[in-house]
Amino acid sequence: MTQHDAAPALLATLAERLGTAHVLTSPEDLAPHLVEWRGLYKGSALALVRPADTAEVAFAVAACAQAGVPVVAHGGNTGLVGGGVPTGGIVLSLTRLSDIRAIDPVNATITVEAGAILADVQAAADAAGMHFPLSLASEGSCRIGGNLATNAGGTGVLAYGNARDLVLGLEVVLADGRVWDGLKGLRKDNAGYDLKHLFIGAEGTLGIITGAVLKLFPKPVSRSVGFVGLASPRAALALFERLRAAAGPSLTAFEFLPRFGLEIVLKHLSGALPPLAGAHGCYALVEISTARPGADTASDLETMLGEALEEGLAEDATIAASEAQNAALWALRENLSDVQSLEGGSIKHDVSVPLSRLADFLETATAACEAAMPGLRVCAFGHFGDGNVHFNLSQPLGMDKAAFLAEWGRFNRIVHDIVHGMGGSIAAEHGIGLIKRDELGLYGDPVGLDLMRRIKAALDPHDILNPGKVVALSANPPAAL
Ligand code: FAD
Repeated sequence: MTQHDAAPALLATLAERLGTAHVLTSPEDLAPHLVEWRGLYKGSALALVRPADTAEVAFAVAACAQAGVPVVAHGGNTGLVGGGVPTGGIVLSLTRLSDIRAIDPVNATITVEAGAILADVQAAADAAGMHFPLSLASEGSCRIGGNLATNAGGTGVLAYGNARDLVLGLEVVLADGRVWDGLKGLRKDNAGYDLKHLFIGAEGTLGIITGAVLKLFPKPVSRSVGFVGLASPRAALALFERLRAAAGPSLTAFEFLPRFGLEIVLKHLSGALPPLAGAHGCYALVEISTARPGADTASDLETMLGEALEEGLAEDATIAASEAQNAALWALRENLSDVQSLEGGSIKHDVSVPLSRLADFLETATAACEAAMPGLRVCAFGHFGDGNVHFNLSQPLGMDKAAFLAEWGRFNRIVHDIVHGMGGSIAAEHGIGLIKRDELGLYGDPVGLDLMRRIKAALDPHDILNPGKVVALSANPPAAL
């Protein structure tokens, strides 16, 4: 029986349990769930299903498993690798599971449902006098389940780690509809395999996350942001080492912008002002913050950057004098991805290398890409302190956008070969999804890939959960959409 034969009975079963208002099949209801943020893929689905709680998620997954119909989980649908694009089957939206279940200030934990919006989790922590440090430009739309399923990074990784590092416990619906209750808030728990880490970063291919216990931190009381003009990525690395040694864990961000990046932000972002008087080879946005009462981060940062200027590590620097100025400097970095789309086609590589190779990588990959296409504009920016750059390429001025994007595969080979040769990762923080599945097949360690397929086969033997994403189980996986 095909999924289309099974569909009428399945949808009737789901509607009976969830209510007809939550089993939607009209093209208008489905449309936003068939596409992804960058518009690179368009999928298809039988229905959008919106369970209200974990029991309904379990019911829906069990019913789909019985009918042999695939299930793709959706949070905010802000993923950037096509991981949420359905290839038929059911889109299971977690948006109705949006409760903050509990905050335990003594244990410094927050227990949330998977559909809670990231900004709401941050706000709930803040209202309790604490800090939840996961921070992405998409935080007003993305949801915790999606953040954990993609092991999201963002701007807080340097001090607090990736999403994975912020999780103490999980609740997960398995491919057969059983619920794994791993919602523990323990900082020490060596009772066997640490199962939660299988589901974090699995992009919905091993289970559907319905709840999580997350770590909270003391709320920073003092924060200062600086913007630094530098001669080169090598100078950025030297400055990073200097600030890390001087500030220790108070160095909460070290972000990198190329000269071209700052130029296009200033060109396209309404109200943006040049942070420094002159132009420089590249720039770093640095942030020092601390929860230590009485700390004066502005004066600390001034001392550190003053020394860097005196020693010639930095060419120029400015320090924000207010929260509004902090936000204005951050806006220059956070809007870079958006404004790049106003410069025509963009070929993107979310990659990481060991920090010690980062300057080498930027120089080598930039030279190789520029040699491969005259007029190409390299826009490599991002989470420098994490060894993670978004090595994006803007099309040459005047080139046809479609013709440029058709070169994506050629540039993948150039950039990913260099990343791989430097011991890096072709998927730093956005994940694999569909867009990098075949790249993972090329660059992944064969034994590691075999283990991934065995884990997938063990947890989801009938390939119900987000089939064809991350690793393909079948010898003939569905082609990229
Ligand atoms: P979705 O897009 O809905 O889903 C993503 C994947 O997870 C899909 O494969 C989906 O099937 C699966 N999934 C969703 N929910 C669940 C669940 N409950 N259980 C199991 N699987 C599930 N990412 C970063 O890491 N760092 C950044 O700095 C960053 N900045 C961004 C800025 C912008 C403007 C945008 C649009 C995106 C950015 N992203 C970034 C990417 C994206 O926001 C993250 O990947 C985010 O974690 C996805 O959350 P979501 O709720 O939108 O997930």
